[in-house]
Amino acid sequence: MSAAAIEPLPWHRPVWQKLLSAWTEHRWPHGLLIHGPEGVGKHALATRIASALLCDRQNAFAACGECASCKLLLAGTHPDFMAITPEEDKQQISVDRIREASAQLALTSYRNGYKVAIVQPAHQMTPAAANSLLKTLEEPPPRTALILLTSRPGALLATLRSRCQQLKLASPSESDALAWLATRSKQPISPRLLRFANGAPLRALALADGQFQALWEAVTQDIASLLAGKEDVTHIAKRWADEQLVDRLTCVDHWITETLRAAIVGTDDPITRTPLPINGLQLNISRPQSRLWASLDRLRALQAQLSKTALQRELAVDSLLIDLLDAMSRGAVRQ
Ligand SMILES: [Zn+2]
Repeated sequence: MSAAAIEPLPWHRPVWQKLLSAWTEHRWPHGLLIHGPEGVGKHALATRIASALLCDRQNAFAACGECASCKLLLAGTHPDFMAITPEEDKQQISVDRIREASAQLALTSYRNGYKVAIVQPAHQMTPAAANSLLKTLEEPPPRTALILLTSRPGALLATLRSRCQQLKLASPSESDALAWLATRSKQPISPRLLRFANGAPLRALALADGQFQALWEAVTQDIASLLAGKEDVTHIAKRWADEQLVDRLTCVDHWITETLRAAIVGTDDPITRTPLPINGLQLNISRPQSRLWASLDRLRALQAQLSKTALQRELAVDSLLIDLLDAMSRGAVRQ
């Protein structure tokens, strides 16, 4: 855990105010459920809460960063702090992990203060693990804080959700996110990259090392080659199915969305004011874009399927690209 992990993030302010009121009014809940999209800082918020609860000085619910407790937490060796995550090579959090943590929470605190456990991602607990955690939440040992983090609150047991105080973390507005990112990233972060990251600043920051830009250029180049008849569908489908398919499809999703937006408001990207990536092709705005909308629907259905079932990826991408090619050649004219 680094010192940066407990830095307050500006878009957390309203949620932090709620927590502060609960603390000062002695309404601190035993269970907290923090939910929101990936990259919005759920873990950073949970860490800040844990630091405030464990700090020896307990001054206005803010960690001092200097006491023995704060130093132990920063070093990752605080005996009253537990991070419960899936074991290595496993997708799920086992019942044994939860039992072990519950047993530890039932003991007296080593440092005569709070005991804190963060469960992440909470929706990846096995049913037995979730039921075991529910028991601890129903009869919580004194001065314990269980903090559950998830991007999928609906996937948790309803009884578990109702035992926790729920805190929703939302992404900041695009302009606020870009302003914050400008102070944090050495690389310039484009609105396109932020949109690719679903508006979540920490995810955008993680993607800002140039990998996104390279992938975006590769994908738009493939679409351009396809439309220009320079490369065939099968080659591109194989390349995409083999590597980074999910991210590539997200790029295509953004590309179609931008293209449709440009068809309505103009041929430049309305936000970045840069020309759309296919040289020599411009959309014929007078033609209906219904085929391209239909392609977008198909793409989103495929994205949803990919997250649930194993399918013939190459075949699915092949058919998606044929559909896109057809939609684009009807909706576009060469200039
Ligand atoms: Zn401290």
